Amino acid sequence: MSTVIAQQLRLRDGHRRVARDLRVSLTDRCNLRCAYCMPAEGLAWIPGPDVLTDDEVVRLVGVAVTRLGVRKIRFTGGEPLLRRGLAGIVAAVGRFRTDEGERPELSLTTNGIGLDRQVAALVHAGLERVNVSLDSLDRERYAALARRDRLPDVLRGLEAAGAAGLRPVKVNTVAMRGANDVDIVPLAEFCLARGYELRFIEHMPLGPQHAWDRSQLMAGAEILARLSERFELTPAPGRGSSPSEDWIVSAGRDHPAGRIGVIASVTAPFCAACDRTRLTADGQVRTCLFSHTETDLRSPLRAGADDAELAALWVDAHTAKPAGHGIDDADFHQPSRTMSSIGG
Ligand code: SAM
Ligand code: SF4
Repeated sequence: MSTVIAQQLRLRDGHRRVARDLRVSLTDRCNLRCAYCMPAEGLAWIPGPDVLTDDEVVRLVGVAVTRLGVRKIRFTGGEPLLRRGLAGIVAAVGRFRTDEGERPELSLTTNGIGLDRQVAALVHAGLERVNVSLDSLDRERYAALARRDRLPDVLRGLEAAGAAGLRPVKVNTVAMRGANDVDIVPLAEFCLARGYELRFIEHMPLGPQHAWDRSQLMAGAEILARLSERFELTPAPGRGSSPSEDWIVSAGRDHPAGRIGVIASVTAPFCAACDRTRLTADGQVRTCLFSHTETDLRSPLRAGADDAELAALWVDAHTAKPAGHGIDDADFHQPSRTMSSIGG
């Protein structure tokens, strides 16, 4: 008697990578207008009927977790805290089990505004981790970069995340020359003192069209040089598929030990180890932040496709995942969606 073992589908591409980490954008709207992400005047938002409903988001995430080997879910946006059904979506997604019978890891990337009011419900729903974006501790510089004077709200949200037991609390900073590079060391001191893990992200060409200026880019190596003048850093082992190159900060006379990361997406791309897949708020699969093509799952979903059909479309999308983002290629051009609409 022969045993037939059903082959588990995987999001495999032509470059021997398998996607296990899903970024789900829950909205393209935002209450900030960070200069590196959105134009000052905002954008033409995705029309309401095109945005996936809560049930549709849960269904598609379920396909990824139960049929396609996805193990980690990160909710993002736009600003995901603006999504009214967020806690319900987190709770429903937390009921899925991976092919290994595990609960998927659930995390959130947010600008932190309103997190103090929502964090208890989110933790109750099963949220495990949070990344809060914070580009300056100086109120004026924060307001200049985010184009909104909301620093006190963000700090309240951050504190609430720690108090609610989310660990680790990570802080994301996009460092830009002449805008907030003076904040690199103060942000590190602030995060070390509170036990937050700080991660600097290189500025990528994903904001308003034609606004990216390489001369403003603070390269990962420069950021590390600034940090090294103040802290003793040693490389953290075991990077795996993480985009972040992490460093252990030794305890000093005036600060505890901690961990700091640098995501050098532009100057040291980690595309070869990329394990991401993305779902936009309007139900499009993107295999890369810089993709120019998308695979529509919303239309087949609404036309009655079953889970197996949706899974097959998602698998197909990944076969064509590009080897790299190509920022340095002569023919590089920025995708038409900004980071806020893709889901960072
Ligand atoms: N609104 C939430 C927030 O700001 O955390 C979630 C969405 S935001 C698009 C996700 C992350 O992308 C943030 O940490 C933000 O700093 C980062 N980001 C946005 N535009 C970027 C760009 N052009 N280059 C690098 N990172 C960017
Ligand atoms: Fe909004 Fe986040 Fe983009 Fe800032 S980075 S404009 S908070 S989506």
